[in-house]
Amino acid sequence: KRKYRVLYRNNEDHEGIYKPLLNKSISTTANTIVTTTIIPTSATTTTTSMIPAPLLPTTTNNNDTTTSKTETEGMDSEEFRKRGKEMVDYIADYLDTIENRRVTPAIEPGYLKDLVPLEAPQRPEQWDDIMKDVEDKIMPGVTHWQHPRFHAYFPSGNSYPSILGDMLSDGLGCIGFSWAASPACTELETIVLDWLGKMVGLPEEFLSFSENSKGGGVIQGSASECVLVSLLAARAHTIRQLKKQHPFVEEGVLLSKMMAYCSKEAHSCVEKAAMMAFVRLRILEPDENQSLRGSTLQQVMEEDRAMGLIPFYVETTLGTTSCCSFDNVAEIGPVCAEYGAWLHVDGAYGGNSFICPELRGPMKGIEYASSFNFNPNKFMLTNFDCSLMWVKDRFRLTQALVVDPLYLQHSFSDKSIDYRHWGIPLSRRFRALKLWFVIRSFGVEGLQRYIREHCRLAKKFEAHVKKEPRFEVASPVHLGLVCFRLRGSNEINQKLLSTINASGKLHMVPASLNDRYVIRFCVCRQTATDADIDYAWNVITEFATNIQDIKTPEIVNKNQLEATKEEKEEAEKEAEENTEDVFKMLDCKNKKSLEFKRSFFVRMVSDPKIYNPKIVRGLPAARDRRHTYTDSSEENNVPVSSPTIDSDIVTELLRQTNLKEVFTDSEDKFKFITKTTSDLSERFLACKPMNHIRRGGEVGQ
Ligand code: PLP
Repeated sequence: KRKYRVLYRNNEDHEGIYKPLLNKSISTTANTIVTTTIIPTSATTTTTSMIPAPLLPTTTNNNDTTTSKTETEGMDSEEFRKRGKEMVDYIADYLDTIENRRVTPAIEPGYLKDLVPLEAPQRPEQWDDIMKDVEDKIMPGVTHWQHPRFHAYFPSGNSYPSILGDMLSDGLGCIGFSWAASPACTELETIVLDWLGKMVGLPEEFLSFSENSKGGGVIQGSASECVLVSLLAARAHTIRQLKKQHPFVEEGVLLSKMMAYCSKEAHSCVEKAAMMAFVRLRILEPDENQSLRGSTLQQVMEEDRAMGLIPFYVETTLGTTSCCSFDNVAEIGPVCAEYGAWLHVDGAYGGNSFICPELRGPMKGIEYASSFNFNPNKFMLTNFDCSLMWVKDRFRLTQALVVDPLYLQHSFSDKSIDYRHWGIPLSRRFRALKLWFVIRSFGVEGLQRYIREHCRLAKKFEAHVKKEPRFEVASPVHLGLVCFRLRGSNEINQKLLSTINASGKLHMVPASLNDRYVIRFCVCRQTATDADIDYAWNVITEFATNIQDIKTPEIVNKNQLEATKEEKEEAEKEAEENTEDVFKMLDCKNKKSLEFKRSFFVRMVSDPKIYNPKIVRGLPAARDRRHTYTDSSEENNVPVSSPTIDSDIVTELLRQTNLKEVFTDSEDKFKFITKTTSDLSERFLACKPMNHIRRGGEVGQ
């Protein structure tokens, strides 16, 4: 029995016995943030901080030396039934009362190592003790992604049928790497992937069961894996083709000529995939709506081909991470076809929306794609991990990934699919179950309703922003995401966001669009309501008023709105100069507030390119994101990608008499060296940033 003492904000004091799973120690009133502090009975200090201190046991009994049944068996089925039911209750209670918790945790990095022993227990522990620690030690460090005030990133798919699907998959505990290893795992995956392919309107060539189809779908762990696997497949295919033309040229030499492309707005996983696959990636400028256009791609492919390079892979995004923009696949597709390049379409978030026929516009041109992916674990109520990938030609995919040792072979391989050849891991969970449960429980119509409702609520939020002259919508609103900002400097917007996040009243993350710091507001909760949107807008405007009250002169006033462009620029400059003073005042004002210091949550983000302020600084939107060479890559320990060639080689190249051209693009500080070799009639390209040479003599190729 453990005692606790609770001190409420109104100084009411309460002592009692702790009951696991029914943690009455957190008191709430409707729409109020929890303000209770739990303190051990032994503590003498009283505090009214917003941070629930860990509930520490007042008595411990570790001296019992008898061996119990659980010590030898872990947990038997009888106890599992009991604990399983309790766990279901715990999860349902958690989700029902989630808004009584603070959306982001109010702790500092390393908080847990003071609460959890750094050595594993030698003896079994009681289940009650374990669960008590979940509530007392783990929950204070959890960001509540299903919280109605969570508007960061994209939704994290979650629903009861999906949770039950994963529970059953865990219960079965089978590892379906091949058909023979667990036939139902494979067969259900193939069927459900065909269901979903039809639901989003993919051409028949992508489906397993359509006539004469070479295509099919597979569940991968993440969109990043889908991108990597598609790149590996394209790379292997291109090298095979080139080998036929140049049988005596090394694969490595061929690879050094191959070029992949994506937009500056593509997810950073594309850069990561290129880095891992040892592939050169050219990152292209999208148009003013953050959409990559066919003409841009055509131009760079022509340039590259003229340089002796081989365009072989293009990654496009339908629903970009920063602002949910859509690359123009209808224009890009024919360009890829002309160059024989593999076109991958990443619809991690946006792809889910194509189950609504009226939202399928951006899919135009999908028939040109070699592969396509989207994540039901983002926008289709399915728990992580569940990223779906379809290919038009499954043999091209598996040729890059097949390794077939004797112990994994079986007699049905010619009649069945072995998904181990479709991805990186051998072992695979039974993920199709949760997807099957979700689709059957909601029906296609239920899932369409959910997506349409999120789109409606985003439009409602956009209408709020448009009504307030202090704010602006920063990019066209698509699906459930709105990018907005206070009219004024980047700093004031940064301050607004970090202050809101620090308060724990809402959680949002920023993005950088056209060099401007914008705030992303995403509708995330499964059952989000109009009231959630109104609440969020009230919080945002209240914080904006607080910031602007302190700030003089105001960033935007009526006169400024009517002012000429020059006057506006002048006023913005002045406002920026004043911002620092304002921040100092704010810092002073909030010095004593512990929560205020928690702004590191703003930096707890999934995409370093977009969210890490350091990287954003290093990668202004106007500059090409040549990941190989940015200074910020070094600063942030983002590895500099290969292939690289030694400066000695370049020096030698320069010295040789058959060097044909040397020219410099002074704006980008990149040097292009083109060389015609007498024997191979091929042109080599070496580009290097001047600052790299100066620093380490290192040269990128
Ligand atoms: N692609 C896009 C467009 C994304 O928005 C994201 C993540 O938000 C990813 C890829 C990476 O997704 P995953 O975490 O499944 O690798």
